Amino acid sequence: MTTERVVVVGAGIAGLVSALLLAQRGLQVTVVDAAAEPGGKIRRLMVDGAPIDSGPTVFTMKWIFDGILEAAGTRLDRELVTRPLPVLARHFWENGDALDLFADPAASFDAVARFAGLAEAERFRGFCAQAREVYDTLEGPFIRSASPTLMRMTGDLGLRGLSVLTRLGPMKSLWDVLARHFRDPRLQQLFGRYATYCGSSPWEAPATLMLIAQVEMDGVWAVEGGMHALAQMMARLGRERGVTFRWGARCERIETTGGRASGVRLEGGERLAADRVVFNGDIAALAGGLLGPEATRAATPVGPRSLSAVTWSIHAPTEGLALDRHNVFFRGEYRSEFTDIFEAGRLPRQPTVYVCAQDRGEDGPQPGAQRLLCLVNAPAVGGRGQITPEALAECESTTFSLLRHCGLSLSPQAHQVVRTSPDDFDRLFPATGGALYGQATHGWMSAFARSPSASAVPGLYLAGGSVHPGPGVPMAAMSGQLAAAAVMDSLASTSRWHPVATSGGMSTP
Ligand SMILES: Cc1cc2nc3c(=O)[nH]c(=O)nc-3n(C[C@H](O)[C@H](O)[C@H](O)COP(=O)(O)OP(=O)(O)OC[C@H]3O[C@@H](n4cnc5c(N)ncnc54)[C@H](O)[C@@H]3O)c2cc1C
Repeated sequence: MTTERVVVVGAGIAGLVSALLLAQRGLQVTVVDAAAEPGGKIRRLMVDGAPIDSGPTVFTMKWIFDGILEAAGTRLDRELVTRPLPVLARHFWENGDALDLFADPAASFDAVARFAGLAEAERFRGFCAQAREVYDTLEGPFIRSASPTLMRMTGDLGLRGLSVLTRLGPMKSLWDVLARHFRDPRLQQLFGRYATYCGSSPWEAPATLMLIAQVEMDGVWAVEGGMHALAQMMARLGRERGVTFRWGARCERIETTGGRASGVRLEGGERLAADRVVFNGDIAALAGGLLGPEATRAATPVGPRSLSAVTWSIHAPTEGLALDRHNVFFRGEYRSEFTDIFEAGRLPRQPTVYVCAQDRGEDGPQPGAQRLLCLVNAPAVGGRGQITPEALAECESTTFSLLRHCGLSLSPQAHQVVRTSPDDFDRLFPATGGALYGQATHGWMSAFARSPSASAVPGLYLAGGSVHPGPGVPMAAMSGQLAAAAVMDSLASTSRWHPVATSGGMSTP
């Protein structure tokens, strides 16, 4: 057993992954989190006695977790029950139009042909082919790379990759490229929405973000027990490998000795000495001085804050509309949602509404009260008193009137709904204003602006949705993997480190 001590600040998915992989390699790992349980944004709220997934609900890129669990000496399907969903998402428009996208590409083609005509379905096929190409081109040189720079990536892409990006027009926005592919504004809207998966506006996000559409078309899974079961499972595996978890333990300072991270100080004064520290909060908290003066130079957030959200976790009966598990309700006009949020800094007057009906899936509707998460995008202005109770009430009213207009009858009693606002998210994730995805991916260089796992402070590593490769559960998990690999690399370069034998080994993604 090594005496190398690592403190991981934060038990979000990235912190859990780092902790698990480092403990698997024999390091002494302690995780401290201000919250009472693992998961961070993978939140579960109890509403009217029912557990509701109130953070991420769309589980994609399962292969990343397959790799992590293999490196931890086990298998995902041994530890967690997941089920591929035949319907990726059901989309409704306020004029009564509806379109399902399916895991089966041929079924999606037929659905788009019925919805918008054969010529548009052919264009949809062309869009899918380009999304696939962009994804395949960027997965290795960008997503899996420990710290991609434009120069390095250009070298790694090769002639074929460069020609894929040149054809796409790397400096174009996602919206520009969608306008090139589709004639039907509803399809532009539908695929533009993927920019919001990393907290960005389709008008500002680079065209390369069309790869998110590919990620979803590669499969969406339901997790038995909800997304929270994923976080619980990772924490359990960590504990089994010797990780110590400290809940309700807020870190108020990352300490350094001779310029190198040497431990953390918790609220209340307790000190935990460490040889290395992994920080899983948002880097805005580091830069803003919330973790003490020594850590401010660790990383600098570049660009505007990403989207926040207003969410309603609901346990109530629904009637009138056949929901699938993932449902999106669009209005005719799309752009004002993003000008309201990113330019005016106010709640959108015409929000798109996402509804996750957590009891639905391939087994069809369940009788009785349903577990729902409703979400609309919001500006990350939490903590400034900028969102008034009146503005929130108005947002709630427009949100639920759109659902009603589309035919969904839903009237929860007060005790059947818990609302979370940007102010609440700011309290949960300090220094973010409630931004849920780090910095927005706006502009074609923004993807290269995210910090790598090795920070500017020796011995301090970064993991989570605010650093490379970006937000979303699988990407943040990958950042946890990259941070663990960076810790192991730094240990390998010191003579006192002698690895213990492990069954899984550490794979750098
Ligand atoms: C409403 C919502 C919907 C989403 N939908 C999806 C989706 O459908 N699919 C998807 O893939 N992603 C989605 N996301 C994004 C996804 O949840 C996140 O990108 C991902 O979970 C972030 O993980 P993380 O590792 O960055 O850690 P976080 O989840 O940000 O957790 C960080 C942890 O660090 C702790 N912490 C921070 N500072 C300190 C400190 N000083 N001391 C102690 N503890 C500290 C916090 O308490 C927290 O537990 C959604 C997020 C939200 C909120």
